[in-house]
Amino acid sequence: MSKDSKKVIDLLNAGRARELSAILQYLAQHYELESDDYGKLAKVMKDTGITEMKHAEALAERILFLGGTPTSKPDAEAKKGQKIADMIATDIRLEEDAVKLYNEAAVACAEALDHVSKDIFEKLLADENEHLDIFMNIRDHIARLGDHYLATLTGK
Ligand code: FE
Ligand code: FE
Repeated sequence: MSKDSKKVIDLLNAGRARELSAILQYLAQHYELESDDYGKLAKVMKDTGITEMKHAEALAERILFLGGTPTSKPDAEAKKGQKIADMIATDIRLEEDAVKLYNEAAVACAEALDHVSKDIFEKLLADENEHLDIFMNIRDHIARLGDHYLATLTGK
């Protein structure tokens, strides 16, 4: 294995570890919100978590193709028992970290002349930007409307 493909595999695995953390975090929030009757917000977390599962899988497939071993270790522990505003702050941080990581990884893949891996990172990047947008929107609504807004996130 060349030095360059080792480097790309490490980047793909760093992304995968990030995705695994995001999956565990969003699913944990999904379960907590569901049991607190915030069904609508719980659904956002569930859908986002499922997108992250697809990301983790896309990264694993590329790692396998390049002859590497996909990591099964998340790079952070999921936070539990947070208030909704704090949950959203956690999620914004996760997405911002992913955006930074994937932007840098895309550049590094291009430098290693691996444009397939670069494309994967760019596809993920578009989804993470969307997630960031959704979470920032929720954060801004909570800041402006507080409990009135949170009440709209209850039920199914
Ligand atoms: Fe992702
Ligand atoms: Fe995301």
